[in-house]
Amino acid sequence: MNAFVHEPARRTPVLAEADVVERYGFLGGMGTAAGVTNFCGLFANVHGEIRRVVHGIADELLDRMQRLGGLKVPHDIFGKTRAQAYDMPAFKLAADELLLESGAQLLFHALGAGVCMDGERTIDALIVETKSGRGAVRGKIFIDASGDGDLAHWAGARWEKGDDNGHLLYPTLMFRVNGVDPARADAEAINTLMAQAVEEGSHRFPRKGAIVRPQKNPAEWRANVTQIRNSVGLAMDGTDAMQFSAGEIEGRRQIGEYFRFLRDRVPGFEASYILDIAPQVGIRETRRVVGRYMLTAEDVLGCASFTDTIGVNGWPLEQHVAGDVNWTWPAIPQSRGFNQLPLQMLLSADIDNLLVAGRCASMTSAAQSAARVSGGCFVMGQAAGTCAALALDEHITPAELDVAKLQSRLERDGAWLGRED
Ligand SMILES: Cc1cc2nc3c(=O)[nH]c(=O)nc-3n(C[C@H](O)[C@H](O)[C@H](O)COP(=O)(O)OP(=O)(O)OC[C@H]3O[C@@H](n4cnc5c(N)ncnc54)[C@H](O)[C@@H]3O)c2cc1C
Repeated sequence: MNAFVHEPARRTPVLAEADVVERYGFLGGMGTAAGVTNFCGLFANVHGEIRRVVHGIADELLDRMQRLGGLKVPHDIFGKTRAQAYDMPAFKLAADELLLESGAQLLFHALGAGVCMDGERTIDALIVETKSGRGAVRGKIFIDASGDGDLAHWAGARWEKGDDNGHLLYPTLMFRVNGVDPARADAEAINTLMAQAVEEGSHRFPRKGAIVRPQKNPAEWRANVTQIRNSVGLAMDGTDAMQFSAGEIEGRRQIGEYFRFLRDRVPGFEASYILDIAPQVGIRETRRVVGRYMLTAEDVLGCASFTDTIGVNGWPLEQHVAGDVNWTWPAIPQSRGFNQLPLQMLLSADIDNLLVAGRCASMTSAAQSAARVSGGCFVMGQAAGTCAALALDEHITPAELDVAKLQSRLERDGAWLGRED
């Protein structure tokens, strides 16, 4: 069988002047599409005191979600920091409002599928596939916030995948149950009950370190428990179409099994039922684009400072390895508990009009396990968007922008850059 077909050359119409292109019909990324329903990285342990360290756009989004009644009071994480559960519809509504009120043009149901270049270092247009057919979205500056570095990859930018052994963080298909008796359910007891079940030989689990916790409605709990392997037993790669497809089936199989454990063995879950399975397997790590600086684990654990800081990461290394989750924290209470994030990690080393924000920004695999969570992604997203807007105003590339201008604009817009107050 011939392994290739030849598509005829085609003229592609310019479809839209969109600012944001999204493959689904709603915003929020893994926070909605993967059912994450919990913000991490908003807080840091600053010399023993737990403080909110991510502001700016994050404040605007969370304020809107609060007004919709969609936020739970922040909860404790190992006595070291806090996270905040939320309801997905509130995220979707608040994100729509926030972007539309800013004047941004949104194009939903548009899958980025390729790129047109203007020379080797400049992107001319993103090619998208839509229900109206294939089209181009032209721009002067592009931000790859695809999580997978899709645009950077098509444009020919360098990227890395996995740790020194090529191992990715394991993905998880999230689900939520309802009908839990909150008076009897105990989040802290679940891992002990799992260990007992394994010892007795009655159950096997894809991983230890299950995170099963209540949402704002105390009868509704989210379960972050599955771990999706590929056919050779390594972490499923979310940029491999066949693995991604098989992973959905495996994720739902694991959910079925885990749910039976919850109902049969965990007090308070006897009358529970599956309320929701996330629309897709949640992907923690795929391509990390090589930028002008690569954030390292030493930066995270050593609470590094950068002159071109655009905000901070206060989350520890959270590595979803085979069968377990490994946590590594900056020293508590000796350290300030957060590292600054430099603008250089958002600037592609290879493409002049490309910024990269979020989990596919320039970080080593270990550093990415920290700054990939929502807090760091809010920081990077706000900085990348602001940098692009300022550079456009001055008709320059993002790297040519005076970083002090960017920093004062971010601070004016409420961001906290981790500099002395
Ligand atoms: C199972 C799981 C649990 C997690 N738990 C937590 C948690 O409790 N707290 C926390 O803060 N973080 C958590 N995280 C991490 C966090 O949710 C993600 O790392 C974060 O959402 C990454 O944000 P991002 O914007 O970089 O990428 P993503 O969230 O992946 O967003 C990328 C967006 O781009 C769109 N997109 C991608 N490719 C294309 C394309 N080709 N064309 C068009 N659109 C495209 C996607 O649809 C999506 O909307 C978890 C992650 C996973 C997977």
